[in-house]
Amino acid sequence: MADAKVPGLPLVFLNSEFEKITGYKKEDMIGKNCRVLQGPNTDKKSISVIKNAIKTLKTQRVEIVNYKKDGTAFWNSLQISPVFDEHSKLTAFVGIQQDITKRIAANHSLIEAKALAEQANIAKSEFLASMSHEIRTPMNGVLGMLNFILDSPLNEKQQYQTRIALNSANSLLNIINDILDFSKVDAGKLELEELEFNLHAMLGDFLETVAAQAYSKGIELILDITDIKYPFVIGDPGRLRQILTNLVNNALKFTHVGEVQIIAKLIPTNGNEIRFNCQVKDTGIGIPVDQQAKLFKSFSQVDSSTTRKYGGTGLGLAIVKKLCNLMQGEVEVKSDENKGSNFIFDITLKKSKKTEKIMPPIDITGINIQIACSNKSQANVLQKQLTQWGAIVTISSSAKIALNTYEQFYTQHAHPFDIVIIDTKLSDSNGLTLGKTINDLNLLSTANLVLMTTIDQFETNEHYKQNGFTAYFPKPMTTKDIFNLLTKCLPERNTLHSENTQTCTITEKPLGPNDIVWREDIRILLAEDNQINQIVAATTLKKMGISVVDIATNGKEVLDYLDQKNTIEPYSLILMDCQMPVMDGYQATTLIRNNEARDKANAITIIAMTANAMTGDKTKCLDSGMDDYISKPIAQDILFEKLLKWLPHSVK
Ligand code: ADP
Repeated sequence: MADAKVPGLPLVFLNSEFEKITGYKKEDMIGKNCRVLQGPNTDKKSISVIKNAIKTLKTQRVEIVNYKKDGTAFWNSLQISPVFDEHSKLTAFVGIQQDITKRIAANHSLIEAKALAEQANIAKSEFLASMSHEIRTPMNGVLGMLNFILDSPLNEKQQYQTRIALNSANSLLNIINDILDFSKVDAGKLELEELEFNLHAMLGDFLETVAAQAYSKGIELILDITDIKYPFVIGDPGRLRQILTNLVNNALKFTHVGEVQIIAKLIPTNGNEIRFNCQVKDTGIGIPVDQQAKLFKSFSQVDSSTTRKYGGTGLGLAIVKKLCNLMQGEVEVKSDENKGSNFIFDITLKKSKKTEKIMPPIDITGINIQIACSNKSQANVLQKQLTQWGAIVTISSSAKIALNTYEQFYTQHAHPFDIVIIDTKLSDSNGLTLGKTINDLNLLSTANLVLMTTIDQFETNEHYKQNGFTAYFPKPMTTKDIFNLLTKCLPERNTLHSENTQTCTITEKPLGPNDIVWREDIRILLAEDNQINQIVAATTLKKMGISVVDIATNGKEVLDYLDQKNTIEPYSLILMDCQMPVMDGYQATTLIRNNEARDKANAITIIAMTANAMTGDKTKCLDSGMDDYISKPIAQDILFEKLLKWLPHSVK
C-alpha cells in the first residue's frame, strides 16, 4: 500500500507475499516507491497504465515486467486501486500483485508452437502444390498424346485399347487430384459447382472408365439406375464422380470373384432439393465389424498388410466422407467378412427444370424380350429396366434352360421373342455357342439375337452376324447400349413421341471445332518450356483449326518475340505457361502489362496454362495481368471453350 498524501507515493504497507515474490524485505521498501521494481525491459506502456490509474483514480490491471532484488526479471500481474476515507477523500493506493511468469512463458510457447504449426501447414501446401505441378506436367503429355492417337485412323480394337489407356491416365490424374482435394477440404477451401447434368449419361460414362479394371479381374460390373426416371439434376458432377470412383475402385480392388453393383436412386423431397442415394455393393473380402468405424478416418486401412497387398493410401474413404458431408449427405458401410461390403451414401442435389424422362428412342410396349444370363443381378436389372419401358421380359439362367425354353416354343410352332439378349459368360456355356446353336437349329427364326460381349472380344461384325447375332455390345451395360440395341433390332418400330416423354437425348451436343470458322488473322504465341507439352498444345490447337505461329520457351523469349514481331503482325493471344526458366509467366505478363514501350502488346489476351492447381493459383495469374486460366493437363473441351471466348470467330 502506498500513501497517496505524500508526493512520490511511498509504500506504507507490504505483506509477506511481496517479500516472497520480489526478494525485498519490508524494511528495505517501506518509504520507497514501487518504481524500484522497474528495470530495462519494463514496457513504457505498462508504466503509463499505472500512472493513469493514479491520475484518474480508477482501478486498473496491468501485466508488467518487474525485477526482483537479485535482478531477475518476472512478469507481474498488478492491480492498482485507490482507497478513500469515509469523506470520500483519497488516502492511499492498494496494489495487488501476482507473479505470472510461468503463465506468460506458457503463452509464449503456445504462440511459438502455433507459428511453427502454421509454418508446417504452409510447407505442406507448398509441397502439395509442387508435387501436383511435377506430376501434372508429364500427365499433360500422356493425356494429350493419347487423345491424338484416338483421333487418328484406328481399327476398333486399337480404339478400344487406346480409350482404356486414356481412361487409366485420367484415373491417375484423379489420384493426384484426390491428394490435393483432401488438403483443400481440410482447409475448407473446396468449392462445389452447381451444374445441370444428366445422371444417366454421367453414370454411364463413369461405368466405362472402370470397365477395364472389372474385366481384368473377371468381375461383373452392374449399374442399376432403374429408379432414376428423370435424369436431369443440378449439382457437382465432378465431385459425385469422385465419390463413385473411390468407392467403386475399392470394391473392385477388394473383390476377387463375383460382382460389383452400383445401385443409384433419386428420392424427391418436397422442396427444391432431391436426394441421390447410391449403394456400391461388392462380393469381396469384407471388413471386420470392429474395423468398420475407423475406415472413414484419414490414412486408415483395415490392417497394415493392406498397403503391401493392395496398395492405396487410406485416404479415399476419408475424402468420400468429407465430400458427402459437404453435399449435406452421409456415407456408411455394411459389411460381412468374406462375404462382401456395401457402401451406401447419399448427397443432396437440386431439382432441374428439365423434366425429360428417360425413355428408349422407340416404342417397345408389348415387345417380347428374353434374357439368357447366368448373373442374377445383371439379368434382374435388365429385366426391370425393359419392363419399365413396356416390354415383356423373361429370363433363362443358363444355356441349357434357354435351349429347353426355345425348343419348347419351336415344337409348338410359336415364335414369341422379338429380341433375345445373350450374355457371353453363361454358367454352362458361352454366348457365342448358344447363339450358333439357336441359329443352326433354326429355333428362333423371328428373333433378333444380341450378344453382351466382354471388352476384349473384338470379333468382326461379320463374325457375329455369321453366328446369328443382329447386334452386340461390350459389358458393362449402359442405357446408351440398351437404346442402341433396341433401335438396331427393331428399326421398323415407331419412334417414341408423346406429350410428356420426348425421345431421350443422353448428352446435349455443344458447339465443336467443326462448327467454327476462326478469323484468318489469328496469330498465337505459345510460351512453354517443356517440349512434349509444346507439341501437345500446338497439335491440340491445330485440331481446333488454329496454328501456333511462334513458340517461346521462357518469359524473356516472349518479350523478345513481342519486340521483334508484334508491331508488324500483332499476336491475338499468348498461351502462357506459368513456371518457366529464366523468366516465369507471371513476371513476363506483369512486364507486358506495365511496359509502355510495348503499347501494342500490352492489350494482348494472355491465357495462363499452368500445372499449378491449388486454390489461389488462378488469382495469382489474374493478379499478374493474365486474362484467363487453364489448368494442366489441358482438357480439350476447356481449351476450346476459352478460345471461343477470347478469339474472333463465326459459327458455320
Ligand atoms: P485405400 O487407398 O487404402 O483403399 P480407402 O480410404 O479408400 O483407402 O480405404 C481404406 C481401407 O478400407 C482399405 O485399405 C481397406 O482396408 C478398406 N476397404 C475399403 N473399401 C473396401 C471394400 N469394398 N472391401 C473391403 N475393404 C475395403
